[in-house]
Amino acid sequence: MNRDKRLAIFARLRAANPVPTTELEYGTPFQLLVAVVLSAQATDVSVNRATAALFEVARTPIELLALGVEGLEPYIRSIGLYHTKAKNLIATCRILIEEHGGEVPRDREALERLPGVGRKTANVVLNTAFGEPTIAVDTHIFRVANRTGLAPGKTVREVEDRLMRVVPDEYHKDAHHWLILHGRYVCTARSPRCGECPIVDLCEYRHKTCSANQIQNRNQRSTISTSSDRIGAPRKSRPTRAKRT
Ligand code: SF4
Repeated sequence: MNRDKRLAIFARLRAANPVPTTELEYGTPFQLLVAVVLSAQATDVSVNRATAALFEVARTPIELLALGVEGLEPYIRSIGLYHTKAKNLIATCRILIEEHGGEVPRDREALERLPGVGRKTANVVLNTAFGEPTIAVDTHIFRVANRTGLAPGKTVREVEDRLMRVVPDEYHKDAHHWLILHGRYVCTARSPRCGECPIVDLCEYRHKTCSANQIQNRNQRSTISTSSDRIGAPRKSRPTRAKRT
């Protein structure tokens, strides 16, 4: 895929959702870290349901540590792998208190040393809590990057590295959210909604679920050129969700 197409793709994704963010609800970097750890193999909706009650009683590492594994488990029992996640979170709280003054470190190595925190979780925290231009490749981003031709790769790391190279600088910080939301709601795994896709004419996927005529019609309606990131009429944004404070 060439640079003009990549620019046009991100211009359209930005036009549809100018201020994208995570759908996990949190108030502090620590709460975001907890939510992201819990979200492994779980939906954001299920995590938000659990943390709504949990963050009422445990907003800080000290308060969460005080719950202990047995005290934490009832809050997260509805989430997959809850026992392992409870153990990891309690151990993480202890490290945050003993080694980081009770704060979440803004440092990849330090984050990845926390139990249950891998590269993807560290990337989400660095990006969403601290505004770093990282890209956390999950299953949605991996699929979108490969299907569209934006950043094809056989492994998650390969896709991440390629995205870091090819995403235009001005879109770097928010690319993660645009791609994840696009994969979650439009370019879905089993039957991508190509007929409603804002980047259908730019996407290089060979098995689109809409006809060439539909794409041509979309092209005629679109005022966005692949040689420019000038935006035509923005598409309707998804409603953003209120954050917990
Ligand atoms: S056109 Fe279809 S395959 Fe391509 S990004 Fe859009 S939804 Fe995904």
